[in-house]
Amino acid sequence: MDKIIIKTGDITKENVCVIVNAANSSLMGGGGVDGAIHRAGGAQILEACRKIRKEQYPDGLPTGEAVVTTGGSLPAKYVIHTVGPVYHQCGDNCALLLASCYINALKIAVELGCKDIAFPAISTGIYGYPKEKSAQIAYETVKDFLEERDDMKVSFVFHNNKNKEIFLKTIQEKR
Ligand code: ADP
Repeated sequence: MDKIIIKTGDITKENVCVIVNAANSSLMGGGGVDGAIHRAGGAQILEACRKIRKEQYPDGLPTGEAVVTTGGSLPAKYVIHTVGPVYHQCGDNCALLLASCYINALKIAVELGCKDIAFPAISTGIYGYPKEKSAQIAYETVKDFLEERDDMKVSFVFHNNKNKEIFLKTIQEKR
């Protein structure tokens, strides 16, 4: 399926309409891909996040929800910030919450008129989601979505080859 691109790289360098950030509910930046996006995208992103916190989410962005900001100085025009579930805290809702991150981000991308979007492996870093389980959910959710939207392209960007290989192996039988 050439509407789904699976690659290794730094998501901040993706030349697409919108990239997704695996943020935390504070929206104030953090480690991992969140830190990388804020560093590469500059102060405009943080400024936009502060505004969202103040005006829409004073208590923080709930898990599974997503919001959009400018891409600042990134090649991407926009950044969608979503909060993945913390694996050891999400209990029976883990899969649903992780799928919501992907669905809500895709919905926003459509609203923005974006034809391409790049995702990191949400929750698989500091938030501890098992990579095989997350691969299954991410891939199925995106594949289902693309069945309705054949004008869009979705990239999964992995930070290293090992993570990409785990993803490819997990989804192999589903392609
Ligand atoms: P979370 O808190 O949701 O687990 P992390 O940022 O800790 O988020 O990790 C999510 C995934 O993003 C991890 O698999 C990590 O390897 C990956 N990652 C970290 N930096 C980047 C980057 N610059 N580009 C793409 N993926 C990245």
